[in-house]
Order: sequence, then C-alpha cells, then structure tokens
Amino acid sequence: MEHNSSNFIKSIIKEDLETGKRDYVYTRFPPEPNGYLHIGHAKSIVINFGLADDFNGKTNLRFDDTNPLKEDTEFVEAIKEDVAWLGYEWDGLFFASDYFEEMYNRALLLIKKGKAYVDDLTADEIRQYRGTLTEPGKESPYRNRSIEENIDLFERMRKGEFGNGEKVLRAKIDMASPNINLRDPVLYRVSHATHHNTGDTWCIYPMYAFAHPLEDAIEGITHSLCTTEFEDQRPLYNWVIEECEMEHKPQQIEFGRLGITNTVMSKRKLKQLVDEKFVDGWDDPRMPTISGLRRKGYTPEAIREFVKHTGVSKGSGLVDEAMLEHFVREDLKLKAPRTMGILKPLKVVITNYPEGQVEMLDAEINPEVPEMGMRQIPFSREIYIEQEDFMEDPPKKYFRLFPGNEVRLKHAYFIKCEDVIKDEEGNIVEIHCTYDPETKSGTGFTGRKVKGTIHWVEASQAIPAEFRLYEPLILDKQDVEDEDEDSEEDVEEEKTFLDYVNENSLEVLQGFVEPNMKEVKAHDKFQFFRHGYFNVDPRHSTDEKIVFNRIVSLKSSFKL
Ligand code: ATP
Ligand code: MG
Ligand code: MG
Repeated sequence: MEHNSSNFIKSIIKEDLETGKRDYVYTRFPPEPNGYLHIGHAKSIVINFGLADDFNGKTNLRFDDTNPLKEDTEFVEAIKEDVAWLGYEWDGLFFASDYFEEMYNRALLLIKKGKAYVDDLTADEIRQYRGTLTEPGKESPYRNRSIEENIDLFERMRKGEFGNGEKVLRAKIDMASPNINLRDPVLYRVSHATHHNTGDTWCIYPMYAFAHPLEDAIEGITHSLCTTEFEDQRPLYNWVIEECEMEHKPQQIEFGRLGITNTVMSKRKLKQLVDEKFVDGWDDPRMPTISGLRRKGYTPEAIREFVKHTGVSKGSGLVDEAMLEHFVREDLKLKAPRTMGILKPLKVVITNYPEGQVEMLDAEINPEVPEMGMRQIPFSREIYIEQEDFMEDPPKKYFRLFPGNEVRLKHAYFIKCEDVIKDEEGNIVEIHCTYDPETKSGTGFTGRKVKGTIHWVEASQAIPAEFRLYEPLILDKQDVEDEDEDSEEDVEEEKTFLDYVNENSLEVLQGFVEPNMKEVKAHDKFQFFRHGYFNVDPRHSTDEKIVFNRIVSLKSSFKL
C-alpha cells in the first residue's frame, strides 16, 4: 500500500522488527457485530490488513462480541461479506466469546492476587464514586473484601445467583489515579441475556477494556491498532496484560478516526436510521456502510484507494465526501461502458425520417478505451430526449433544442426543431423535428457546425428504466463528534442528528435506456452520457424494468 509508506505506525513496526522487539507482525480487525461496517471501518481494515501485508504478517478477523444485548449473527455474516468484498483474506477467524472461559480464569487470577474485587455498588453509585478529572475518586465500601469472599461471590455471579446490575467485578488499581480509566474499572458485569454464540452458557460478561487486551494476547497480536478514543485506556490495557500474566504482550497503537462530511459514522446512529426507516436498510445506497456503498455502485478498489489517500495519523480526519466520489470516478473512468439513458423523457418525432424504418448506428463503448469495441444503437423516426434539453423560450446561451435551432444527436444526425405539440392544458407532449441525412455521425460532415450535442434513445425499442439519484443523507458536518460507544459510559444525546436528515436525499425518475442493455446484471456499471456513473441495483431491478442507482455525477470541482 504505497500511500502508507510514510505512516507513523509503519515506522513503529519497522523499528520493532529492526530492534528485535518483534520477529513477526500480527494485526487484527476487531469489529463488534452490532451493526454493519461503514467506511470508517474500511480505514481500520486497510490499515490492519495493509500493514500486515507490508511485512509478510498476518491479520485476524475477530468479532468483539462481549455484549449479548446488541450483537447478532446477521451482523457477523454481513461483516464477513464486507471484509472479503473489500479484497482482504483473514488468517484466523475468531470470536471474543471463544475465550470466555480463559477470561474468567484470568479474572479469578486477579482476585487471587488481590487485584480485583466484587462490588455491590450500583452503576450510578460507581459513577459517583469515580470522581472527576479534578477530584479523586472514593473507594467503594466493598473494596476490601477478603480474597475468599471475592472468589465465592465471583463464582456465584457466574452461577447466576445475582440479577443484572446487582454485582460487578472491578479491578483494584487506584481510585486517585489522574487517569479515570484506572479508578477501579469494571471488569465483569451480570447480564442475563442470550448470546449469539454462547447461548445461555454465561450470565456474566467481560467488559471491553478487560476483554480486548486478553483477546490480543491470546491470539499473539503484536500491534493492536485502534482509534484514538482508546488512548486513555492504554495504561489499563497494559495493566490487564501484566496483571493477568499473559505471556504474549501486544502493543496498542492509536490512529485517528475517519469522518466524512454530510453523513454520520457510528453504528448506533446508522442503526437508528435503519430502525426508524429513514432509509430502507443497512445497504440503502445513501448509507456510508460498505454494503450501502456497494449497492450504490462503489468498487472495492475505489474505497481502498480513497482510504489510503486519507492517510494514517493521530488526528481525526474529517474528509470531504467529494474526495470519496473522486476515487470512484477515477476507478470507473476506464472500466465502465458508456451508454445513453433518458431520465426525464420527451418524445421527438423526426417528421422527414421514413416511417417504419430503423437503422443501426455504431457507437464506441468507451472512447478512452478503444479495445472495448463498439455497440449498436437503433435510430428511427421517434426518439426520446431529456425534457431539459428542450426549451420553448430559451435564455441566451442555451445551445440545446428550441424552435428553429439545430443540435447534434450524439452518434446520429443533426436535427432541427420545427414544431412544438401541446395538449389542451398547454403542456408540451412532443417535439417535431427534421433531420439532415448528410450530417450522419462518423461520415466526416463539416458543412456546418452546431453548438449543442444532446443524447437520446430510440423510442420503439427503448427499455424502461428507473433512475435513482442520491443527495447527501445528512446535511451537516458533524462526524468528528461521533462519541465512543465502547467507553461504556452512558451515551448522552447531546444533539439529535436526525434533525439534519435531508428529506430530499432520494429522487426517483422513470425513463429509458438503449435496447442493448437488455442483458445487464446486478452491479453492472455504466457511464450514462452527461449523467454520470450508474450501477444496476441488485434488489429492485426486474425483468420489466432495470433500476439504476447513480453512483456519482460526472463533474466535480474536487482536486486532490
Ligand atoms: P462505531 O462507533 O461506528 O460502532 P466502533 O469503533 O464502535 O465504531 P467497532 O466495531 O468496535 O466499531 O470497530 C472495529 C474497529 O474499527 C475498531 O478498531 C475501531 O477503532 C475501527 N473504527 C471504527 N470506526 C472507525 C473510523 N471512523 N475510522 C477508523 N477506524 C474506525
Ligand atoms: Mg462500537
Ligand atoms: Mg469498538
């Protein structure tokens, strides 16, 4: 991954190998299966898999499934699909829940060493006792229980003798530590809930801060790469590794989260958009999820290139969505066949073209890639053009069709507008034109010039198509403020992003495409002349009607 060549994590790894601190590189991508992956996760995937690749190392896909209430097998499957689709192969596939027994035993070890105790305080009380940045915490009255009593209580927690929230296991570290994470953090909680993997085997579950370092150590991870919100937890991470006497000692390194303008990037918020039906599922093309981007028509190559160009640093990176769009345009420019589609049809009758005659015209599939060859498109007396390519009363500098004006039909002939046909209410229903056979495209006609070139589709053979055009889902730049859900603090709803949902994020148009599109398959991608890149929707297309999602329009002011 060439754009990673100067990133600071790579430098650390290089040094670790050179100094002999490590003799191999092992990373992991550790999603919690509580939602679908988004493009922020793609950054973590590219970094973890990419760095391991750079050093001939390995990468595990590990599901951090320590919270049975939020996790589901549906998410596990979706995450596997997305990682593979992005083009990465994991070495090991693991679940944090694979290690519950070992984690339990390590917790017992802490108790036996006097480093952990069972606390009866409520969650609220624990929070109050914890103190603040300026005030030291207060010790729990249960902090000095005997080791025997702690062992007994912890075993009974496991047996299910206590209800949710009645007891927790806490590390015994330092209630006066300037780092609040070290003020006797909770290691285990009671949760009588069915786990997607372990079913009802357990009713106590390890907290993320305890589980994660153990998972890394158990798997032999060398560099545990995570986002900067975990920086303050690093001392706790190291404490767990040390005090649990893990033989292998992974190193946590943090990098900045990726954010993108005009969207939200937190599974919790994305889930809310799904659950409250602002979108039609996790893979709605407006979602910043990997599956949404895939359905919209993004390619793995485009996503990977984008992510690499956002760089790896400690700072949170809020990136303009135009940058993401830039990379999909770049990727599709030479790959996508060109074609013509009419999004808002207006019938044109070419009055001097013989009735009943259809001729086939040749058109390049992609003029930038001649090897892609030619396609054939029919032309006849009746065609569709875009409504916006005709104006009865045009302003200056309108070079498209208007009464008396002549334009070029892409790949075909010059046509001249002779008449405007209206219904009783005065709506334009059809345009009458004449064509000039001398002006046929490809014949080298130079007799006169026209200023406008418009696209069209022959009417009798046109295939009905639905075009779905997307605008940003959220009209606000607020991603960097996504809070961390894993801190296991209560997430306060400081503002509701739902107030910024764009009501006009989807426009659905009924139009036509060229008849050679008959055989298209889900996920085929095209560049429609003047309209941009489109993807055949995998869910809504039918035999009667193809549904196209606009991936991105053609123009952009974005500069890399
Ligand atoms: P979310 O808040 O969206 O649920 P998360 O961090 O809770 O994100 P996890 O499933 O725990 O999601 O994420 C797996 C990995 O992906 C973690 O290492 C996390 O740091 C990383 N990650 C998540 N979001 C981003 C992001 N926006 N940019 C970079 N890495 C991210
Ligand atoms: Mg999370
Ligand atoms: Mg997380």
